[in-house]
Amino acid sequence: MNDYEVIIGLEVHAELSTKTKIFCSCPTSFGAEPNTHTCPICMAMPGALPVLNEKVVEYAVKAGLATNCEISKNSKNDRKNYFYPDLPKSYQISQYDKPLCEHGYVEIDTKEGKKKIRLLRIHIEEDAGKLNHDEFAGGSLVDLNRAGVPLIEIVSEPDLRSSEEAEQYLKKLKSILEYIEVSDCKMQEGSLRADVNVSVRKKGDTKFGTRTEMKNMNSFRSIVRAIEYEANRQIDVLEDGGTIEQETRRWDEVSGKTFSMRDKEDAEDYRYFPEPDLVAIKLSDEYIENIRKNLPELPESRKERYLNEYHLSEKDSNIISSSKYLADLFEQATKICNNAKAVNNWIISDISRILNETETEPIEIPFDSNQLAKLVILIDKGVISSSIGKKVLVELFENPRDPEEIIKEKGWIQISDEGAIKEIVMKILEENPQSVSDYKAGKDKALGFLVGQAMKQTKGKANPKMLNEMFIEELKK
Ligand code: ADP
Ligand code: ZN
Ligand code: MG
Repeated sequence: MNDYEVIIGLEVHAELSTKTKIFCSCPTSFGAEPNTHTCPICMAMPGALPVLNEKVVEYAVKAGLATNCEISKNSKNDRKNYFYPDLPKSYQISQYDKPLCEHGYVEIDTKEGKKKIRLLRIHIEEDAGKLNHDEFAGGSLVDLNRAGVPLIEIVSEPDLRSSEEAEQYLKKLKSILEYIEVSDCKMQEGSLRADVNVSVRKKGDTKFGTRTEMKNMNSFRSIVRAIEYEANRQIDVLEDGGTIEQETRRWDEVSGKTFSMRDKEDAEDYRYFPEPDLVAIKLSDEYIENIRKNLPELPESRKERYLNEYHLSEKDSNIISSSKYLADLFEQATKICNNAKAVNNWIISDISRILNETETEPIEIPFDSNQLAKLVILIDKGVISSSIGKKVLVELFENPRDPEEIIKEKGWIQISDEGAIKEIVMKILEENPQSVSDYKAGKDKALGFLVGQAMKQTKGKANPKMLNEMFIEELKK
């Protein structure tokens, strides 16, 4: 294994979040009843003619500029011919020799420092429909809602050298696409998926080995596992004196293995030719510069700001800036409550943990920055303790509303009344004579136990600072 180097190149498909499809005005939204988002154009009725959605060009140019590409002022669409039951025209309108964007790069962090992963191209194309194999015994059903949903395909050079680098690259790309708001990147809905090309070669070799390709992968975990399995499989074949076939392989999540599907097709197999039903795409410098001017701040720049302006740690800055939704939540909540450190802690610890446990994406966080800021303010003012704060956060995830309302409704307001605190302290001291004598004998731990008991009896509502002080005062008497 150590004598070999792994080479990976990714072709990433991102569904664009335009309201309508690429060549007709059907909606692109996910999850509708089968075949309700269709029309003669995306169902490929004879004689129906496509019209290119201008927003698709704009979004693709935006993606190109955000990934340091050159934008082609003369571009066009081409037909890619192949037969598949989910492709009603029997060809896909894509781009062949004149893609919209070329020669970009995305920077990733590796153990050896920053590394540029070069992009060969970004082109626009239409998505195919979907086959449902499960709902109809003995056959499959075709749903054309997805046919004609706009995609960009982002093709990397074979610059990635490990599964970790591939994961870093994908995460970075996802984060950039989210920031510029051209795709919702929901991997579980297939909005972001990758064809993964893998080859191996002896270290020191200058020629690449033969690659295999695993298509349409849509989870980071599967991609990492598939790369590792596939690299090891190829090494074993070579070590046994065999050769690698250039082919498409299928990743099986359950067995954790890849299986041969079919020989890889070459460009000649697709009989590409210029799409005769569409005009060429000509862009002016002014058009491109206007999009460049309006690009939002990107993750790298936000990260720098979080390090310098808010003094977050390198690790926290990375986590928060990697998601536009977390970054916006952080900045907006901080603006309201003026406590960056607390907001940072909530996001990094409790919010991230809940997102992980519930397999939720940051974009799906149900509460807003106002509500998070309110939570921080209530703790800062001593109205609730931080342990009650954690319960409020759980409520915010389940049924988001004003935290002040939540604590009133639940009776969670902190007891900060001196008389009430004294009453609890006296009661706990009376109930725990052993701890009292332990403390007097120099065992400081006993104090923690007493405070804990008081917290328990008040269901976490007593002000812990006041409790501490009052216990010490009474124990000294
Ligand atoms: P296609 O799959 O459409 O034939 P390309 O030949 O342009 O397209 O390559 C597709 C992807 O395969 C690119 O992302 C590229 O980086 C990657 N790739 C090319 N050669 C290799 C290789 N030897 N090992 C790993 N990946 C490779
Ligand atoms: Zn349509
Ligand atoms: Mg390919």
